[in-house]
Amino acid sequence: MTGKTRITSEVDFEKDGKQQGFLRLPHSVHRSAYGWIPIPIVVIKNGSGPNVLLTAANHGDEYEGQITLIKLCQELEPSMVRGRILMLTAMNFPAAIAGRRTSPIDEGNLNRSFPGDPDGTPTPAIAHYIESELLPLSDFAVDLHSGGSSLMYVPSSLMARVDNAEIAARQWELLKAFAAPIAYVAGNLRENRTMLAAARRANVAAIGTELGGTGGTSPHSMAIAERGVRRVLKIMGSVPDMEVGEEPPPTRMTEVNGPDYYVYSPDYGIWEPLVELGDEVEAGQPAATIYCLQTPWRQPVTTQFNVGGTVICKRVPGAVERGDCLFHVVTDYQH
Ligand SMILES: [Zn+2]
Repeated sequence: MTGKTRITSEVDFEKDGKQQGFLRLPHSVHRSAYGWIPIPIVVIKNGSGPNVLLTAANHGDEYEGQITLIKLCQELEPSMVRGRILMLTAMNFPAAIAGRRTSPIDEGNLNRSFPGDPDGTPTPAIAHYIESELLPLSDFAVDLHSGGSSLMYVPSSLMARVDNAEIAARQWELLKAFAAPIAYVAGNLRENRTMLAAARRANVAAIGTELGGTGGTSPHSMAIAERGVRRVLKIMGSVPDMEVGEEPPPTRMTEVNGPDYYVYSPDYGIWEPLVELGDEVEAGQPAATIYCLQTPWRQPVTTQFNVGGTVICKRVPGAVERGDCLFHVVTDYQH
């Protein structure tokens, strides 16, 4: 991450009031020699107060966040806000338009592209802009994800494990404010290319979410998404009079502590899940059986949970390849 971004903004981040427009990502192609990709951005600023970054469509097929932020950007007016709220309703715009996890332009997965590259294709160029221009303007950030087309989640929020105790405490505060049924601290996953890793490098308190999945939404996952974002804005002092409804039950604090928390398909074929989302499982318990389509009389393969805990994520499609994630679990927060 060396050069300067080529993305320009139609909105002025320092100006009071409500502005909406586009980040212009230069994209010179056959049908449009001097064209740019329009990434919608809304900024609402009113004097001093917290600087907030809200993002959705980091992955284009995760919709709770996109809908929540579209509603919010229409509802919020400067008089309701203290400080600044920056909203990206479709952060990886080409992926969002295509309804896909990755961008059809460069196959880029934005959440594996940080710190990005100002000279790269659109996805790394967007990552670079977020990390070098928008995160440094922010006191805290909420990046709204869901399971996407291939996964389904028990609605959850999450934070990355960070060394800075002050940032960790603020992230904890954000998880409690968001009030998803489950929150987890993600650690030991050897991942530094995500938005949460970018926030950690920028010393910004940030949380993510995994709100549902299957490439769509439900009234349940939408309600948790909207309540969560509204409560974060109220509790962190951005929108002090925000309507948030009744006090929800407290969030269960859990952790994901390394690759053993995930169950992967050991073979190619079609899979039969042996547990359901939300189940409590034990280490060694059978998780799934994989059957061979090409040779139906071949002995099926059964795989198991390496770590006992609560199943919060499950694969959606019935066809599997070796290495596909079938489940992951969380355990009660220990350290
Ligand atoms: Zn995602």
